[in-house]
Amino acid sequence: PRTPLFAGNWKMHKNVVETLEFLEAFLRKAKDVHGEIAFCPPFTSLWAAAERLKGSGVKIGAQNMHWEDKGAFTGEISPAMLKEIPCDYVIIGHSERRQYFNETDETVNRKVKAALKYAIKPIICVGESLEQREKGKTLSVVLSQVERALEGVDIRDGKELVFAYEPVWAIGTGKVALPSDAQEVIGAIRNKLSELYGARVSQNIRILYGGSVKPENVRDLMAEPDIDGALVGGASLDADTFYRIAAYD
Ligand code: 13P
Repeated sequence: PRTPLFAGNWKMHKNVVETLEFLEAFLRKAKDVHGEIAFCPPFTSLWAAAERLKGSGVKIGAQNMHWEDKGAFTGEISPAMLKEIPCDYVIIGHSERRQYFNETDETVNRKVKAALKYAIKPIICVGESLEQREKGKTLSVVLSQVERALEGVDIRDGKELVFAYEPVWAIGTGKVALPSDAQEVIGAIRNKLSELYGARVSQNIRILYGGSVKPENVRDLMAEPDIDGALVGGASLDADTFYRIAAYD
């Protein structure tokens, strides 16, 4: 049985003060949640958030990182720096980074290896565009992203990494995937992981759904057998809304 994970990807939202206000409000309610919670604020808020969340059981993640330990890479953040915070998670290969910041399957692969080396759990994002879906290429695109992210990656038991299936057309659009469509892709990802690493490991890897998740649609998504939680953008910015997602019934 996999522990569900609800992760809030704040993207480029919330300065330090706003981060601390949010966490106060969230921690006042944070009970009855299904499993694990993680927040992924901007880099500038990571340390303040981690200090506030000490002892709460709520986890912290970054939204990106470089793969090198250190060096002349102006503007980049290393896995060692994230480990120091300490970050439990790091989002790798979000579609916005693939679209706007030249993230490729190859850089995703390097970052996944770097995260695992530092025992930071990568949340590896994959997903097809609308055009790819309409051409019937969803599974081939997504499975190739999965395979290329994991090229040369050793996996111990599967608990050290997470996937997030985020169809690009569902992100920030209000158009959530049908639970059965999300299950089809996420089930196919799990089969691929089973081919690559065996059934035991694939049963341990959590695979989240992301894209317009709201309190109103989370329950039906979570009813699908292979969906292990959600990566939430817009609806994670308000403490009460995100709480209602994580504590759905
Ligand atoms: P929305 O929940 O705003 O659609 O964003 C999803 C996402 O990109 C999470 O990483």
